[in-house]
This record gives sequence, C-alpha cells and structure tokens, in this order.
Amino acid sequence: MYDILVIGGGINGAGIARDAAGRGLNVLLVEKDDLASHTSSASTKLIHGGLRYLEHYDFGLVRKALIEREALLRAAPHIIWPLRFVLPHEQSLRPSWLIRIGLFLYDHLGGRKELPATRSVKRTSDPIFAPLKSRFIKGFEYSDCWVEDSRLVVLNAVDAAHHGADVMTRTECTSLKAEGGIWTARLKHPDQSETRVEARTVINAAGPWVDQLAARAGIRRNAPDVRLVKGSHIIVPKLFDDERCFIFQSADGRVIFAIPYENGAYTLIGTTDLPFDEDLNQVEASAEEIAYLCEVSNTYFERQITPGDVVSTYAGVRPLYEDQAADASSVTRDYVLKTDTIANAPFLSVIGGKITTYRKLAEDVMKQLAETFPNMTGPWTAERPLPGGDIPGGDFEAYLEACRKDYPWLPPELLHRLLRTHGTQIQVLLKNAKSLDDLGRHFGAGLYEREIDYLIEHEFAHTAEDILKRRTKLGLHMHQDDISGVRDHFEDRSVALQASASALQP
Ligand SMILES: Cc1cc2nc3c(=O)[nH]c(=O)nc-3n(C[C@H](O)[C@H](O)[C@H](O)COP(=O)(O)OP(=O)(O)OC[C@H]3O[C@@H](n4cnc5c(N)ncnc54)[C@H](O)[C@@H]3O)c2cc1C
Repeated sequence: MYDILVIGGGINGAGIARDAAGRGLNVLLVEKDDLASHTSSASTKLIHGGLRYLEHYDFGLVRKALIEREALLRAAPHIIWPLRFVLPHEQSLRPSWLIRIGLFLYDHLGGRKELPATRSVKRTSDPIFAPLKSRFIKGFEYSDCWVEDSRLVVLNAVDAAHHGADVMTRTECTSLKAEGGIWTARLKHPDQSETRVEARTVINAAGPWVDQLAARAGIRRNAPDVRLVKGSHIIVPKLFDDERCFIFQSADGRVIFAIPYENGAYTLIGTTDLPFDEDLNQVEASAEEIAYLCEVSNTYFERQITPGDVVSTYAGVRPLYEDQAADASSVTRDYVLKTDTIANAPFLSVIGGKITTYRKLAEDVMKQLAETFPNMTGPWTAERPLPGGDIPGGDFEAYLEACRKDYPWLPPELLHRLLRTHGTQIQVLLKNAKSLDDLGRHFGAGLYEREIDYLIEHEFAHTAEDILKRRTKLGLHMHQDDISGVRDHFEDRSVALQASASALQP
C-alpha cells in the first residue's frame, strides 16, 4: 500500500511526489499522458513574481513567487537562468510613476540577492530600442528568470523516483473509492489493462481536470473550484538580436512578452487570457489569438508580422482558483489547497498555482498532511539541487568552460545545448564516449542515439514526441525527415523489445 497516490504529472504533481518521497513516504505518481504534456509545457516559461499581479494588490503571491525565484535558480541553474526585461514606456497607458513604484516593490518584496536591480533605459544610450518604433524613447529594465518548464517537471519526477517513488506515465486513474481510511484507485495502463492500487491519501494534482477527478472520487460541489483560462503563444523567426526580452502593455490592459527563444533563433510572443470550455485534450491557439498577438507585436516593433510568419504555436489552459473575478486576466494566480475526508481517507485537491510557486506549494501540501503522517521528516527541498543542477557555485559559464576541456571533441553548440538540458548529468549521458562516433546514430539537430537512450532510461521518455517536444525542443529545429527518423527509431525499438520479450516467454 502507498502512503500517497499523486494523480497528475504536471509541475504540481511532480513537485509534490518529489517532496513526499524525500520525506520517507511511499509514493506513487500517475500521469495519464506524458509528464508535462498539458499546462506545464505550455507556459511563458518564466520564473517570475508577476509584475502585473501588483495591480491586483496580490502582494502575498508576488512576494512568495519572488522568494522562490532565487531558490529555484540555485536548484537548477542549467534549466533556469536570469533574464532582463525591458518595458518600453507607452505614454497613453500606465503612467511612468506607477510603473516606477511597481518596480520598486518588485525589487524589494522578495529579498532579491543575486539578480540585478531595476534601472531606467533610454533610446539615446541603449541599442535595445533599435527594433522598436521611434515613438518609444524610454523605459525600464528589470530582472526575472527563464525556465525550461517541461524539463523542470521531468527533473522533479526523476528526483522523486531517486527517492523511491514509483512513477507511471500513460496511466490514467479512472476511479477512486474510499473505505475504512484507505483509497482504492483503478488505473488504466497504455495496453488498456487495468490494475488497482491502495493508498492512505490521494493528492488531486490533475490541473485543469481537478474538478473532474474530484467527481470521480465521489466529491460533489455546488460550484466548480477551478476556472479554466486558455493562453496561447506564437513563435516567429527572431524579431531582434538583443539577449534581453520585452514586456509590452496592450491597450486592453494585458501584458505581452516577446522573448528570444531557442538560442535567439526565434521570438516567443504571448500570451492571451480567454475563458475555456472545450475539450481539454485538444487545446490550440485560435486564428483570433494568433492575429491578436501579431497585432500587439506590430504596435511595438518596426518589423511587422502576419499570421503567415508564425512557425509554431502552443496553447495551454490555466487551472485557476475560481474567485469570482469579473474577467479572466484578474482571477488570482495563487493556489488553494482543499482537503475532503471521505471514509476517514484524505483527498487533497490542488487548485491554481504557478510553475514558479510549485516547490512552496508542495511544502504546503506536506504541512497539511502532517497529522496523517506524523513520522515523516521535515522540509528539505529549499536547498537541494534537482538532477543535473549541482553545478559548482551555480556558475553555468564556468562549468561550460570546464566541460570544454573535458570534452574537446564535442562541437561548442552541442556541448552548450547538452549542458543546458542535462547539467552535470552530462557525465552520465556521455559516460566514456571519446568522439561523436561513440554517440551512435545522428538524427539531426544534434540529437544522437546516446541521448535518446539516456532519456528513455533515466527520464521516462516513451515516444519521439516525448523527446522532441518535452525532454528537448529539438523538433522545432528538425526537418520533417529527421522527425520521421526519430519516430521510426522508436517503432523499431518497440518491435525489437516485443520480440525479445516473447523470446523470453516459456
Ligand atoms: C499560457 C500560460 C502561461 C503561463 N505562464 C507561466 C509562467 O510564465 N510562469 C509560471 O510560473 N506559471 C505560468 N503559467 C501557469 C502554470 O503553467 C500552471 O499553473 C502550471 O503548469 C499548472 O500545473 P499543474 O501541475 O497544476 O497542471 P498540469 O500541468 O496540467 O498537470 C496536470 C496533469 O494531470 C494529468 N491528469 C489529469 N487527470 C488525470 C487522471 N485521471 N489520471 C492521471 N493523470 C491525470 C494531466 O494529464 C496533466 O498532465 C502559465 C500558464 C499558461 C496556460
């Protein structure tokens, strides 16, 4: 019997599984698709306090998120790194003094230590204005962080497994029943077979499905806990050369980010905020959202874009806590934990939250379970690196330099990508390889057979998409033929595995 069954392998479920397993609890994490295959791979990929939330007086959330920013940066300096954002001042929108006060608070609310402070910027002295229309002459520059969102989820699940958790992807929890203080869950596996597991506690971390899962456990509420709000992004060939990002104010009061993407080859633009009531498994950017994002971009950049310039899009549904706010943009981004006890067995639902606050959320979940598990150990994740994040002094550039000496045969671009993806785990991945030939077949865009094997063996990857979209984003850089090559490789592998499994049968 498990102590905890965590349902949902997005950032919240993976973070809770890691924290609980590290406290000595017996944990099972189940995810109906791949890890991070829904909202947690469709974010703007920022570890941020959320400057915009100050306008809604959500100081508690901003402070909590700003404190987490530096803790997460320390835990995973390979997949999380500092960014500078430039906010060009638009005369007709928020006044300069208001932005200045907001940024002062943003700099000070969370005890910022490592990230540089806000400063003013002017067209006359800063090339950042070059790609912008000439009416933008001044603005502000402040700090936040980038995160490879799907990798953050995967690394939490990997670390949960290192601490003894069982992790089952492509496994759906189809029903739940509580009796005598024990939950029995029915699980459906990829081959359509079904098993049952028992657990003392269930954590409902099903994100946008949180209400549906509660209903499967027989919990009925008068009103939904969750408000579903869709957000879309577009990816276009790069619109500017600077490493810094832009945060634009749109006339409807929203803010839109324009961020250098995939080593600056592209610009990522997002996001939208739209009520959502369609199929949660089919979330896509609509033509209207794409047109809207192009329009906001065109208000600021000299270079004009049309939907025809968009090379890729992605969309996700925010599972926000239903606080009855009038419009989708102003619903709180903070989380709420709700515990229902059925037949003496706790069922804890996670509603809302941001990627930025997942670690703190997991700690708060464990606090709520203190009475159920009096022998579990205390909080531990604040100062512990995620897999690959134990880079000496957290200094990525120095580590890159050292690895250049250790692996002189790796082309610099490939080494950089491998380190940004795997951090110190590069040593496990490369093992005793001495040349590119030792990495096996090359599938294109720097993806070698060795890395595919590593991702299957260590990171729960099962399909080409798991690797090309979530463990890496190499699909964006590959030709269709290369992508087909990776898919064929997976098919050949599974045929070979099935053949060897049947050969072993008596
Ligand atoms: C457009 C957009 C931009 C965002 N930008 C940011 C940002 O820049 N920074 C930030 O901090 N946050 C951001 N967020 C918020 C953040 O992405 C979400 O709060 C977070 O990813 C939610 O994670 P989750 O684990 O709750 O949900 P999910 O990632 O959706 O995970 C829930 C999982 O549960 C699984 N599941 C559901 N039912 C079952 C079942 N019965 N059995 C098994 N598995 C099941 C689903 O398949 C899913 O994978 C953004 C969100 C959106 C949509």
